[in-house]
Amino acid sequence: MKVSEIINNNKLNLSIEVFPPKTDSAFESVKTATEKIASLSPAFMSVTYGAGGGTSKYTLDICKNITERYGVATIAHLTCVSSTKETVQQKIREIKEAGIENIMALRGDIPADMLDADRSKWQYHHAIDLIRELKESGGDFCIGGACYPEIHPESANKKEDILHLKEKVEAGAEFLTTQMFFDNNLLYNFLYRIREAGINVPIVPGIMPITNAKQVERAIKLSGSHVPQRFKALVDRFGDDPDAMMQAGIAYATDQIIDLYANGISTIHVYSMNKPIVAEKIMSNLSDIIGK
Ligand code: FAD
Repeated sequence: MKVSEIINNNKLNLSIEVFPPKTDSAFESVKTATEKIASLSPAFMSVTYGAGGGTSKYTLDICKNITERYGVATIAHLTCVSSTKETVQQKIREIKEAGIENIMALRGDIPADMLDADRSKWQYHHAIDLIRELKESGGDFCIGGACYPEIHPESANKKEDILHLKEKVEAGAEFLTTQMFFDNNLLYNFLYRIREAGINVPIVPGIMPITNAKQVERAIKLSGSHVPQRFKALVDRFGDDPDAMMQAGIAYATDQIIDLYANGISTIHVYSMNKPIVAEKIMSNLSDIIGK
C-alpha cells in the first residue's frame, strides 16, 4: 500500500523506523527485532539504507519480510550521493521487483573521507537528482523526502534550505519526514515557514524516544537538535537509572506525539533504534488514540 493513502486518513498513524544490520552476522537478530515491531501493527514502517553499499541489500530483505509476514506497508530508504547511476538504477529495479511501493529518497551524508574531494564529476549531488530519476523510472512509487525543522547543517540559512525543499517537492516528493526534534514549537515554526513558502505536502514529524543517557549525546551529535531545558532536566535526574530513564524518555516522546496530534498532525514517525520495547510502550501509551 502507498504511504500517501495512509497519511491522508486523518487518524493517528504511527510509523516506526528500523535500520538494517551493519554486519551479516547481525541479520537474524535485527530481523527478529523488526518482526516484533511489525507484529504490533504500526501504520507503516521504514527501513533505512546504509549509505555506500555494504549491507544495503538487507534494507529490501527486511521490507519484504515485514510486508509478507505481517501485512505492514514499508518504505525502503535509498541514498544516492556516493553512488553511481548504475548502482542506483539497479537498486530501483530491485525495489520494484520486491513489490515495494514507497521510497524515501535521500542524498545521504557525504562520507568523511570525501568531504574535500572534487565533487564536480559525481553523478548525484542532492536528493532531488534521485527523486527525478525515480519519477523517470516509471516505477509508480510514492516518494518521500527528508526535511529539517532546525535547518540542514550544510545550509547557509533557513530561506535557502526551504527553497531547496520546495524544489524537492516540485520534483515529486509526496511527503516529508523530519529530522528528530525535542521541542514541538520548533516543528510548529517550521510548518508555518514552509506553508508560507507554498510547500503543502504532508509533514511527518520524527520523534526519537531517548531511553538512555548515552543515546542523548549520540543523537544530538548526529542530528544537531536543540535540547530544551525540560529535557535536559529529565536526563540529569534519571540518566543514571536505566529503568527510570527509559520510562521518562518514553513518557516525554508520548507527550510530544499527543501534542502534535492534538495540533492536527496525524502521521508521526518514531525512531525506534530497533528496540521493540520502545515501539511497544509508545503504542501502548497511545492505545486509545491510535487509529482515531
Ligand atoms: P538534500 O535534500 O540533498 O539536502 C542536503 C543539503 O543540500 C541541504 O542543506 C539542502 O538545503 C541542500 N540542497 C538540496 N538541494 C539542493 C540543490 N539543488 N542545490 C544546492 N543545495 C541543495 N541517511 C542515510 O545514509 N540513510 C538513511 O536511510 C537515512 N534516512 C534518513 C531519514 C530521515 C527522515 C532523515 C531526516 C535523514 C535521513 N538520513 C539518512 C540522513 C540524510 O541522508 C542526511 O541528513 C543528508 O545529509 C541529507 O540528505 P537529504 O536527502 O536531506 O539531502
